[in-house]
Amino acid sequence: FVLLQVTTYHVYMALQTDCHVTVTESQQHQLTPDSASPAQILTLTVGSINPAVRPFDIRLISTEYAELREKLHAPIRNAANVVIHQTITELFLETFRAQVDLNRPYTLPSGQEVEPCIGCMQAPAGTKLLRLCHAEGADTESECQQCFCRPMWCLSCLGRWFASRQDQQRPETWLSSRVPCPTCRAKFCILDICVVN
Ligand SMILES: [Zn+2]
Ligand SMILES: [Zn+2]
Ligand SMILES: [Zn+2]
Repeated sequence: FVLLQVTTYHVYMALQTDCHVTVTESQQHQLTPDSASPAQILTLTVGSINPAVRPFDIRLISTEYAELREKLHAPIRNAANVVIHQTITELFLETFRAQVDLNRPYTLPSGQEVEPCIGCMQAPAGTKLLRLCHAEGADTESECQQCFCRPMWCLSCLGRWFASRQDQQRPETWLSSRVPCPTCRAKFCILDICVVN
């Protein structure tokens, strides 16, 4: 995996394992006249421990930062103490992940392999939906349904799906809501999401 920047005259490349990435600058841009909030454009400097590789800058919108951080297998340093404005969904994903980590993990049946996530085709499909919430609660039946799908989604894609099905005006209700499985439509809640190990 390499980080690439293509300019008119040069192709800059750094091997991901050799590189260190630093947030060096932040600028506000009004993307379109009618967009309500300005976009925050971050400048990241990519350096390498390999002296043959010259440092280069990449620019991206702050809302894509979380995605980059996730794909990059190297820490990102924040040199300028830039406050990175993430979207409400990205903020939600952090809580979502922490919550799912508390759930019971799921062990694949022997012979079954983890496939790539069908949402991003990058991360392994590391989640399985099991109707666990009614076991936790009292004898009242929950509205959740059993999903029989094999693991098909990574936790980030499932979290984005989870967030996208909610009342966008009321993020405080997101964690406690039920959404349909993206594949079979069986309803599930956050307690039903298991990480595949
Ligand atoms: Zn995914
Ligand atoms: Zn399903
Ligand atoms: Zn449930």
